[in-house]
Amino acid sequence: MVHLSEPIVIADPDVVSGLDYWRTLPVKQQPQWPDPDAVGAASAEIATLPPLVFAGEVDVLRSRIAQAARGEAFLLQGGDCAETFAGATADQIRDRVKTILQMAVVLTYGASMPVIKMGRMAGQFAKPRSSDTETRGGVTLPAYRGDIVNGYDFTPESRRADPNRLVQGYHTAASTLNLIRAFTQGGFADLRQVHSWNKGFAENPANRRYEGLAGEIDRAVKFMEAAGADFDELRRVEFYSSHEGLLMDYERPMTRIDSRTGTPYNTSAHFLWIGERTRELDGAHIDFFSRLRNPIGVKLGPSATAETMKQLVDKLDPNREPGRLTFITRMGAGQIRDALPPLLEASKELESTPLWITDPMHGNGFTTPTGYKTRRFDDVVDEVKGFFEAHRAVGTHPGGIHVELTGDDVTECLGGSEQIDEATLATRYESLCDPRLNHMQSLELAFLVAEELSAR
Ligand code: PEP
Ligand code: MN
Repeated sequence: MVHLSEPIVIADPDVVSGLDYWRTLPVKQQPQWPDPDAVGAASAEIATLPPLVFAGEVDVLRSRIAQAARGEAFLLQGGDCAETFAGATADQIRDRVKTILQMAVVLTYGASMPVIKMGRMAGQFAKPRSSDTETRGGVTLPAYRGDIVNGYDFTPESRRADPNRLVQGYHTAASTLNLIRAFTQGGFADLRQVHSWNKGFAENPANRRYEGLAGEIDRAVKFMEAAGADFDELRRVEFYSSHEGLLMDYERPMTRIDSRTGTPYNTSAHFLWIGERTRELDGAHIDFFSRLRNPIGVKLGPSATAETMKQLVDKLDPNREPGRLTFITRMGAGQIRDALPPLLEASKELESTPLWITDPMHGNGFTTPTGYKTRRFDDVVDEVKGFFEAHRAVGTHPGGIHVELTGDDVTECLGGSEQIDEATLATRYESLCDPRLNHMQSLELAFLVAEELSAR
């Protein structure tokens, strides 16, 4: 299954062709690197480093996504808004993987269908920003663009874009993915361990509900084992990596020509998505990612029209290939019921079969009077319900969910059965970017989605 890809030499930027055509187009959300030679050297170094994922794995994922687009599987994509280098510790990676595995079990059991597990992990280091600068107390500095670009501390040294961080991003992604592979291939993710994934998390109502379900699964597995079923298949789970394809000085050198097929694969992750801020049809990102064999996602906010959606399909999925394209809608709880159905209706007229998944996070953010970026758990839930309602009404498949989450007991999103309120946000707010669901809120959301799925 594993095919090594040949490293490519970065094309001379003056040679404008194919994979480098994006260089002639407007490119948004890139840092101002103070030293262009140093960036070139960092990118050239990355181009010589081994791929993080393999073309054969990417092809399997494409077929899984095609299955979900047909309504025969469900995609669960989750992780930090912005991974940090300091946060790439064994404990934090393990707890995020455990949380995703737990959610996947809840969904698989509730929906009786395969769940594709995908982390916003091992490369989610670059962030688009609404402003290039940030001003605090009369001082203006470059905005924080994620650990792969600059530091979060509000000093000129830290905020300076540093190309060494590109290489550090690669190595941090490699060690994160190595641990994920160990956890998911080495027996830790075995369904017979379903109880142990709940251990180590603070006792809470969602946890207890999970224990009940784990007990049922345990009994079913033991029964099948006693009846002679062979469960070796359960030892390993497929777990895919993904991040926003944003930072061109990283994504381009991680793109290699596959020796089997002669086609380009981005080997920094199995799945890349293009964000709401960089999805212009004539922009650099759409052009570059349209040329890759990886399955590609695109965020669609409430202003996306049916026409835009169709043009994106033509650009990113000209061959109407199953599993190629995923639309990640992030409309906001108040708008999804109006904004999504026309897109779904229009998509029925295309021969393309994109996978539709909901991101119930990015349309529901606001800042509290005390200055915390947050979201209400109830709005997240409401957007998910609106997503299912829209698909039910139009007759299309609600194919997955994209969430910002952590396995830690942070207090970043309001509500949930622990009733995190505005005063509580300050207790444990750790995200450097958008607020994440904590472990309990993530499990609660999974139970809710499972109910929606079983009611389809
Ligand atoms: C994100 O996923 O963190 C993000 C920036 O999303 P969007 O492009 O939808 O705003
Ligand atoms: Mn985010």
